[in-house]
Amino acid sequence: MKNKRLADRRTEDQHLRQLFPDNPHLQKLLAKCTAMQVSLSRSLVPEQWLYHPGRRTIMVWEPDLTEQSLSFLVVILAHELGHAADFDAHPNKRRMIKHLHWASAPPSLEKAAFVRGFRLLMELSIPVSLDDYIMMIEPPMAEKVRAEIEENLLCCLLRPAAGLGKNA
Ligand SMILES: [Zn+2]
Repeated sequence: MKNKRLADRRTEDQHLRQLFPDNPHLQKLLAKCTAMQVSLSRSLVPEQWLYHPGRRTIMVWEPDLTEQSLSFLVVILAHELGHAADFDAHPNKRRMIKHLHWASAPPSLEKAAFVRGFRLLMELSIPVSLDDYIMMIEPPMAEKVRAEIEENLLCCLLRPAAGLGKNA
């Protein structure tokens, strides 16, 4: 039985990957999922994308893959991978959600995932400006994320300018 379930999960991961628009930025993020051994599964919570640290699984709201804009998909996938990177860096944070329903993440976890998500976009050279990124986040979280990125990720924000200099 266990092997069958594993096979089902793999099929679902493949199915969802194929539904993503054929876009180089999304493909880079999906390749990052593979590299981080994070798989995709269908979310059962309407309109919610979630990360399940125990299963290393991003729960995808499937209709979004055909109905939402490319920038939405880039940002939400980066955010969920941000959760994965955050839990990998701070395994103790899993204790914070142990007694919660795993769909209700505390704001500090959400903020960390947004900040790490932005860092991932920079690392993968996916061109999303900080303003565009912040616009995809709802207040009051948006301004908290902006403040933390501006305070701690200045090196990332300056990198595009450094890249231009190299080409000149
Ligand atoms: Zn989240």
